[in-house]
Amino acid sequence: MHSMAHHGPSQAYDTIRQEPLQGVFPMKSYLSHLECTSCGQLFSHEQAIGTCSTCGKVLFARYDLASAKKHLDPHEFIKRRPNIWRFFELMPVINPLNVVSLGEGGTPLLKADNLGKSLALKNLYVKDEGLNPTGSFKSRGISAAVSKAKELNKQAITMPTAGNAGGALAAYAARAGIESHVFMPLDAPESNKRECEILGAQLTLVDGLISDAGRMSQEKARIENLYDISTLREPYRAEGKKTMALEIALDLGWKTPDVIIYPTGGGTGIVGMWKAFNELLELGWIDGTQPRFISIQAEGCQPLVKAFAEGASETTPYPNASTLASGLRVPSVFADYILLDIIQQTKGTAMAVSDSDMMTDMGILGSSEGIFACPEGAATLTGLKALIQQNFFSGDENIILMNTASGLKYLELFKNT
Ligand SMILES: *Cc1c(COP(=O)(O)O)cnc(C)c1O
Ligand SMILES: [Zn+2]
Repeated sequence: MHSMAHHGPSQAYDTIRQEPLQGVFPMKSYLSHLECTSCGQLFSHEQAIGTCSTCGKVLFARYDLASAKKHLDPHEFIKRRPNIWRFFELMPVINPLNVVSLGEGGTPLLKADNLGKSLALKNLYVKDEGLNPTGSFKSRGISAAVSKAKELNKQAITMPTAGNAGGALAAYAARAGIESHVFMPLDAPESNKRECEILGAQLTLVDGLISDAGRMSQEKARIENLYDISTLREPYRAEGKKTMALEIALDLGWKTPDVIIYPTGGGTGIVGMWKAFNELLELGWIDGTQPRFISIQAEGCQPLVKAFAEGASETTPYPNASTLASGLRVPSVFADYILLDIIQQTKGTAMAVSDSDMMTDMGILGSSEGIFACPEGAATLTGLKALIQQNFFSGDENIILMNTASGLKYLELFKNT
């Protein structure tokens, strides 16, 4: 590996309008290299590489944080437009003109006092990711991955998805002028299929699960030489999702919350947020420790919960995976070893909830706080209530429920009710 001089414009850019921003410090990414999370092998970020070529595991983007610490002022970020690219220095794109943005990120951290009172919690929040472009937090990761694909001169991208990531890829690829192929289970939400159609992706519906779609996408990538951006099988989607933690820390006045409750499929969000808090700790911009990460899964698909309960360091594919929360219908967890380690290290936990309870809690969250959550997001409330029963909390922690998408994308769930 060798490092090369960075050749980005030495100005701050409004990444949506692609025009210079005045009165803000120049934007320069501190991206330095890629590192394998398992064997530690290093790779150049100038090459398009998905997983470690030595051991096959997940790669992390690494930054020159020592130098960033010297040159950056965390209070500058608030001056930039509130989208994920305000954190450009900690993002993996070198040239701001390669950024493909629809205004993702900058979502509100809503204090949920009505709900908090009824649960005897003083500091309960909902990070409402339903306000993102394409209606889900998948836009963060896909904005980062498509931007990097553009920087690496990729012409065509392929990806398996449970639904929302496919809609996001269709949108960002369209904006970048890159061809996109999406492999999606037949029973994915109607909204996700329509998104692919209207936003110009080539959609293949698969009579099976996301793992079957993944095999088809990989095969397509191999035969047609497409860039495959499956969850955590490329290093940059996690970088987009890490901005959720950067925003939370910024909104709390550069502090970490005590608890993050996250509906987990492939786990990119937990991996990304934990990575972000580590970077912030290393930069010295936040005090304290990592929040406790609580992973919520559905009863019908709970590979992480099962492995965590057994004290295992990896998962096994969950048989007959089924839940109406499509984002949680992920039977094989590629980054399992990282996730289980995070949950353990941060003294979090993993818990499964039923589909009917999450649907009930969708109504409770909606009618008490005005947030129309997706079933995955509502599942975090179900999990929270179960953990309160187990005396998991003291009552004054900062607890954040992640609502990962808008309930408006799931209207067919209400057809028969
Ligand atoms: C993809 C998705 C999830 C799971 O996210 P991961 O970071 O892959 O675990 C949760 N909720 C919704 C709505 C999703 O689309
Ligand atoms: Zn490796």
